[in-house]
Amino acid sequence: MLEVEAIDAGYGSTVILDGVSLRVDQGEVVTIVGANGAGKTTTLRAISGLIPVRTGRIVFEGEDITTLSAHQTVERGITLIPEGRQLFPDMTVRENLLMGAFRRAARARQHETLDEVLELFPRLGERLSQHASSLSGGEQQMVAIARGMMARPRLLMFDEPSLGLAPIIVAQVFDAIAKVAAAGTTVLIVEQNVFHTLQAADRGYVLENGRMVLNDAADALLRNDHVRQAYLGI
Ligand code: ATP
Repeated sequence: MLEVEAIDAGYGSTVILDGVSLRVDQGEVVTIVGANGAGKTTTLRAISGLIPVRTGRIVFEGEDITTLSAHQTVERGITLIPEGRQLFPDMTVRENLLMGAFRRAARARQHETLDEVLELFPRLGERLSQHASSLSGGEQQMVAIARGMMARPRLLMFDEPSLGLAPIIVAQVFDAIAKVAAAGTTVLIVEQNVFHTLQAADRGYVLENGRMVLNDAADALLRNDHVRQAYLGI
């Protein structure tokens, strides 16, 4: 579904990603793990068209999307749930969710999609008229995930969905991501929370200093000596 082929990307004259390649197949949950500053967010930004790709190629569902804008990648069915959730704090949960349906293919079906999304996240149904700013951190992350679903994406990308959340809430967020995947959306997650995300994923990539150093089945990475020492503290 998504093929990233040896891309370089960065900011201004600074190159962050150095020949990054990865693949996500339809229906998979794939994760990119790595430390602070490894380039995980930059990878998602390059796929989304938020920053330019200098060399290499990105192909999505057979189409070369390397030079598409962020707006165009959204229209193709790629949605990014950014780090820090970025909800509209003074808008209600319902208004935040409907804002997710701006993609052309989603707008006409927004009320139907809202019903489907609330079936996945019933607790949000009880909070539809509450301001987003009044929700707990975990509830806000659920709204961010549900808002991403409102775009009816083909590929949903998560940037550090567990950031700043208590361990019990992190487990709920990964359960929610599992539901999204089970409902048929392909998922790419970048995380520093290596243990939880590898448990949730089918396959994983390890990014260090802008380079992919390992990739394997998620359960194999959980047993990998380098991953255990560098990321799991074992
Ligand atoms: P984190 O978990 O800390 O977000 P990350 O793996 O997602 O880490 P990136 O956010 O991709 O890392 O950052 C990779 C490098 O790019 C860092 O050295 C960072 O300082 C740099 N960087 C990020 N955003 C910008 C920017 N807008 N302008 C210049 N440099 C940036």
